[in-house]
Amino acid sequence: MAVLEGPSRMLPPGGFAPAEGPIAWIADNQLKGVSAEPAITIHATDEFSVAHWDQDRDETARMLIAAADEWMGGGIKSFQIHGWRFSKPKQTDPSSCALVSSDPPLVLAGDVFAGPRVEGAALSGWAAAEAVIAAIPH
Ligand SMILES: Cc1cc2nc3c(=O)[nH]c(=O)nc-3n(C[C@H](O)[C@H](O)[C@H](O)COP(=O)(O)OP(=O)(O)OC[C@H]3O[C@@H](n4cnc5c(N)ncnc54)[C@H](O)[C@@H]3O)c2cc1C
Repeated sequence: MAVLEGPSRMLPPGGFAPAEGPIAWIADNQLKGVSAEPAITIHATDEFSVAHWDQDRDETARMLIAAADEWMGGGIKSFQIHGWRFSKPKQTDPSSCALVSSDPPLVLAGDVFAGPRVEGAALSGWAAAEAVIAAIPH
């Protein structure tokens, strides 16, 4: 995340997924309405993150900021970088959840099922709850 000296060059609604390069997603937090001052959030691609995981984090941040130059519109005031080791499932499962045991009921749920986003995780949790209810004798 970088705080900018002035507004970015991004257009509403303020989110963009470049087709190539180290950036998977870039968002203008001011256009999104979540920041009072000009600021952007950059998500690196899976490939870039894995390749640079052990590298100095500030150096990695500067590489991403350099790659975002055309959308930034000026200099930066400050930046923060964070590495999420388990940010995404490497493999996903098309089922909505996995019933491991019926008695006692044990169900696996999360974004590895039903799509690797918040919506998938929520739908998977819902499906898991239904699977537990179905497994309990009435
Ligand atoms: C930087 C970032 C930005 C994102 N932005 C978006 C977005 O804009 N929109 C979107 O839809 N998705 C986004 N995602 C993805 C979204 O956050 C995940 O898909 C979602 O949180 C997955 O939910 P979950 O319940 O499956 O797993 P998680 O939210 O990862 O929850 C797993 C939980 O299990 C706990 N845990 C782990 N190991 C253990 C253990 N051994 N014992 C006990 N507890 C344990 C963890 O602490 C955690 O609380 C983003 C992810 C990241 C990393």
